[in-house]
Amino acid sequence: MPVREMSEHECLQMLAAQHLGYLASARNNRPYIVPVHYAFEAAKIYGFSMPGRKTDALKDNPHACIHVDDLAHHDQWRSVLIEGKYTELPDTPEFHNERIYAWSLLQKHDLWWEPGIFKPNADGDVGAHTPLFYSISVDEISGR
Ligand SMILES: Cc1cc2nc3c(=O)[nH]c(=O)nc-3n(C[C@H](O)[C@H](O)[C@H](O)COP(=O)(O)OP(=O)(O)OC[C@H]3O[C@@H](n4cnc5c(N)ncnc54)[C@H](O)[C@@H]3O)c2cc1C
Repeated sequence: MPVREMSEHECLQMLAAQHLGYLASARNNRPYIVPVHYAFEAAKIYGFSMPGRKTDALKDNPHACIHVDDLAHHDQWRSVLIEGKYTELPDTPEFHNERIYAWSLLQKHDLWWEPGIFKPNADGDVGAHTPLFYSISVDEISGR
């Protein structure tokens, strides 16, 4: 099966069209990866999460990698990899506009917040933890 490199333009188009990616982090030499929903706009990935292992890892080491794929068939697929830096968007004046922007992009998709907010065995008191928004810069991108 012939495999070809995607152009940067094709990669960016695919990122914009998809909304589910696999976010990898590394802390203390241990890789960690989880599926997350994202929005992509203006060269950044935006996401929403409760605090947990991935956000702790990315705060400690902001180097992130995201894999996004589009699998139609075993010989008909596209795969894009992004490397960039994680930045938390706290509810402060400095990040206010970008936080609102992230929210405005993410809320275009139904129940965008649901997988990020519920955790197994949580006591249901979402207010006990502050949900957070984050961005990941798209520093390197490749696609096949
Ligand atoms: C389709 C889909 C979309 C999702 N979208 C989002 C999103 O937009 N934002 C978001 O924050 N989360 C999303 N999630 C949930 C996400 O994959 C994580 O489960 C969640 O964010 C908790 O991650 P954490 O690092 O805080 O784990 P913690 O709650 O700190 O959990 C610690 C341990 O739980 C286990 N664990 C955690 N997550 C998973 C998992 N997904 N599968 C198996 N074991 C796991 C690991 O062993 C990990 O060490 C989505 C999940 C799915 C399936």
